[in-house]
Amino acid sequence: MYPNWILQRAFLTPNRVGLIFNGNSWTFEQLKQISLNRAGQLVANGIRQKQRIAVLGPSQPRLIFMMYGCMHLQCEMVMLNRKLSKSELEYQIQDAEVEVVLVDEADIDLLPEHIQKLNFSTVEESNAIAIDIAADWPVDQTITIMYTSGTTGFPKGVRQTVGNHQSSALSSVLNIGLTEEDVWLCALPLFHISGFSILVRSLLYGNAVKLYEKFDKEGAVQDIAEGKVTHMSVVAVMLERILHGLEEHQLKASPKFKVMLAGGGPVPKKYLERAHSLGISLCQTYGMTETSSQTATLTNKDALRKLGSVGKPLFFNQIKIDSKEQGKEGEILIRGPHVTPGYIGRFTDKSPTIDGWLHTGDIGYLDEEGYIYVVDRRSDLIISGGENIYPAEVENVLMGHDAIREAGVCGIEDEVWGQVPIAFIVLKSDIREEELQKYCFEKLAKYKVPKKFYIVSELPRNGSNKLLRRKLKDLI
Ligand code: ATP
Ligand code: MG
Repeated sequence: MYPNWILQRAFLTPNRVGLIFNGNSWTFEQLKQISLNRAGQLVANGIRQKQRIAVLGPSQPRLIFMMYGCMHLQCEMVMLNRKLSKSELEYQIQDAEVEVVLVDEADIDLLPEHIQKLNFSTVEESNAIAIDIAADWPVDQTITIMYTSGTTGFPKGVRQTVGNHQSSALSSVLNIGLTEEDVWLCALPLFHISGFSILVRSLLYGNAVKLYEKFDKEGAVQDIAEGKVTHMSVVAVMLERILHGLEEHQLKASPKFKVMLAGGGPVPKKYLERAHSLGISLCQTYGMTETSSQTATLTNKDALRKLGSVGKPLFFNQIKIDSKEQGKEGEILIRGPHVTPGYIGRFTDKSPTIDGWLHTGDIGYLDEEGYIYVVDRRSDLIISGGENIYPAEVENVLMGHDAIREAGVCGIEDEVWGQVPIAFIVLKSDIREEELQKYCFEKLAKYKVPKKFYIVSELPRNGSNKLLRRKLKDLI
């Protein structure tokens, strides 16, 4: 058993600020009082302890109060993604078999009409019922259920337990450090593990979270330059905008700013170099929904020496490569206390682990010092005349061209070679196909050069803005 995080944090440091939003702030004692009240109000509205419910709303304090209320009730929270379409949300709500969706009024139109809903304000305005709140939580209790991004197929509902979140927070902090004085800027969605894990760390370590409803470039640039925040988690596109903002205003990161944690996908090398020259300590990380956030992280110290790597596994985690030869590419396997016990819904019977190892579906390799490099998704691998082609490598080369904004590569069937690569590109400026081909031949082995280039206005992406390579062919 582990202590209820919210009660324990308020007991340890009641008067410390836990949350900052739009000029307002809340201490951990206030967060506790509000969330305990919410728990009683949820029960008054028919929510039962340990029930599985879905939650949907913009990143505002009221969402956090609602989530903490659910956590006091030991409910399993299915975290719904606001960027999904109605039918995608419906799929997840049905797959998770939730009876009711707790929803912020602002998001009510995102949901299909026939879904059972309970509005935030209905809960907030009702009288709380006195209930017993669990002071301890079992390590294997499911706190959250998050759906994977659905990049390779149907999104999978992942159980994330008390133990998963705790060990993830702990190994993160053993690696990058965190103190009570720190302030973590949160502009990533709370329904995603990248955002939710910021809240977990705050409860465990007692640092404040500065929450933004949406990513705000100017706000983040000021916070970083003035040292109002010490940590921030970003994905590559956000990082680029912050770097651009700092450069534009001729600012640098304050010495008080300690760590920028970049994850979700690969970070282009150019960004790393720019971050470095702006005084930003950037840590690249590799994580997934099934591992409740980071598994490996590259420290700033190694950032330039190990360009392109996602570092070494965090203390409690182990990584190995499923390949016959040492140093060769293969599927990345992960073991550790942060790995999910399993999926729910239609994937319940698909165990994510075999003999304790999580099969990630990602291809990677380890260098001689044990640093891990993520190459690509196994399912996107193109095999042409017996040679392996990783679309990410070809896309990187294409995106290095000044005329190209975005690129997506996939394979199509070919009578001679089995498969050949083709490319879909969004242009910044006009360019002829022959020119592109010539450029590729200079940078890539012949068999990797796309046989055809399709110019498109946008690439298919999912709610997490990830490229859906399996949908590229539909653009032909
Ligand atoms: P689905 O499992 O439904 O196909 P998904 O894997 O995209 O979707 P997430 O759990 O949100 O869903 O994303 C985790 C994946 O993101 C990893 O398995 C990996 O492919 C990719 N990823 C995360 N961090 C990095 C990184 N630093 N470099 C390269 N790829 C990364
Ligand atoms: Mg996945």
